[in-house]
Amino acid sequence: MTQETGGFAAFNLNPNILAAVIATGYEEPSAIQHQSIPIIMAGHDMIGQAQTGTGKTAAFALPILHRIDPAKREPQALILAPTRELALQVATAFETYAKQMPGVTVVAVYGGAPMGPQLKAIRNGAQIVVATPGRLCDHLRRDEKVLATVNHLVLDEADEMLKLGFMDDLEVIFKALPATRQTVLFSATLPQSIRAIAERHLRDPQHVKIQTKTQTVTAIEQAHLLVHADQKTSAVLSLLEVEDFDALIMFVRTKQATLDLASALEAKGYKAAALNGDIAQNQRERVIDSLKDGRLDIVVATDVAARGLDVPRITHVFNVDMPYDPESYVHRIGRTGRAGREGRALLLVTPRERRMLQVIERVTGQKVAEVRLPDAQAVLDARIKKLTNSLSPLVADAESTHGDLLDRLTADIGCTPRALAAALLRKATNGQALTLAAIEKERPLVPNNAPRGDRPERTGDRPDRGDRERRAPIPLAEGRARCRTALGARDGIAAKNLLGAILNEGGLAREAIGRIQVRDSFSLVELPEDGLEKLLTKLKDTRVAGKQLKLRRYRED
Ligand code: AMP
Repeated sequence: MTQETGGFAAFNLNPNILAAVIATGYEEPSAIQHQSIPIIMAGHDMIGQAQTGTGKTAAFALPILHRIDPAKREPQALILAPTRELALQVATAFETYAKQMPGVTVVAVYGGAPMGPQLKAIRNGAQIVVATPGRLCDHLRRDEKVLATVNHLVLDEADEMLKLGFMDDLEVIFKALPATRQTVLFSATLPQSIRAIAERHLRDPQHVKIQTKTQTVTAIEQAHLLVHADQKTSAVLSLLEVEDFDALIMFVRTKQATLDLASALEAKGYKAAALNGDIAQNQRERVIDSLKDGRLDIVVATDVAARGLDVPRITHVFNVDMPYDPESYVHRIGRTGRAGREGRALLLVTPRERRMLQVIERVTGQKVAEVRLPDAQAVLDARIKKLTNSLSPLVADAESTHGDLLDRLTADIGCTPRALAAALLRKATNGQALTLAAIEKERPLVPNNAPRGDRPERTGDRPDRGDRERRAPIPLAEGRARCRTALGARDGIAAKNLLGAILNEGGLAREAIGRIQVRDSFSLVELPEDGLEKLLTKLKDTRVAGKQLKLRRYRED
């Protein structure tokens, strides 16, 4: 165990939970986790003021998992979330942290999906139920005893739930739960309506809030880019094209992400390396020395590994993953703008993290301007500028050293100097796209495709058309079914791993497998409808990247 994971070890969580946290690659608890985990583990009621991006899900999921009894096959913890998307995200997080707890199952209950399988999973003994209030009330109407064994309740994003008009549903749910339960409420804001709920339904709650002191940031130009989580690597590659940097540090949250991003950068020819808590101290020092003297230009680091890093060459900081709190943001971007130089900091923001951006702006008292991905023209201009910069110093004396050779070659080949210069350029640029059309072809991201915000699930859990369109933009081909696994990019999964596993173990032909979409915390695969159940049974024990695939049919509505 590295020294950093000692942070999680100090909580004395069930060793199977600790092992799963370490496997996830978290190096140390975030501020909200530091404060909340001991309180929830001790069984107290709690009010936590925190928004998405602070690590709040693990702040309640880890202690709740610690408190349940895996041997009891009945619902023990209920997590309420305002939207289907958040409910799925929270359920996936629980599954990740419970990976090494045999017998623990999690069910997500939300509108738009059939009720039967949800109820069956609850009755089959899922210990953790993650639900949207509207749909849960539908279940309660069918079976009012369904929650009778729940002794831990978490209200996640309580303010959002009230905004969506779930107040009445919440009251119905409170009534259906044992009065002796533990109740934990997380909310980004604490308006009077939330305080009234806490007053009525929480017992002697402890308050947890991340202290946010105003911080000053000078000489650093800040910007943010809206991006979907699964587009971060391509966004980073596009930004690097146009940013004029000397040395750059990129911050991500997990060890795995440092490795993945560093190797993606290396594959594109950047001198990049990963820096994380698993890397031995002397090796870390070597990485930092290389960054100092220019053998490396980019370091991809976790917060822990970058502690104390002071390299004056750093002109840019990319916050590829959102920091947990504004202090950490200020700390990260302080890596640039050293010694009175100007620095530039870019923050990648996923739709759910917009609120965290607002908090950062408030705390730093500065607006973090929005930038868009560079378009093909900007990339072309930047590439030509780089080429110009690299060639122009050579022009002054190249004619005296290589002029005669040029004359001889043009004569031998029988071509014009222009033709020869063009051939040399082609060779020197190594197949790089240097026309608009070629750049457009190679770029996977369309600029200005900033994601829209998450749409809330409507009261009554009716499927939201806009939401459905956004989540499943590509209609399924005739005869195909979409299946989901909780393994995603953050488990180190790439589309080719899924394809390989399904081809090998499922005995399918390549053409039988449709589109594979790998997202951060889950993946979707299109498979033939015909014989699907049999195929899923065949793949029951399949493992990918050391983890159980657990492929299931995925219904959009
Ligand atoms: P949340 O605020 O719960 O939405 O969490 C935001 C992201 O932070 C999720 O992708 C988590 O997997 C990740 N995360 C939570 N806690 C930690 C931690 N201690 N170290 C690294 N990543 C974390």
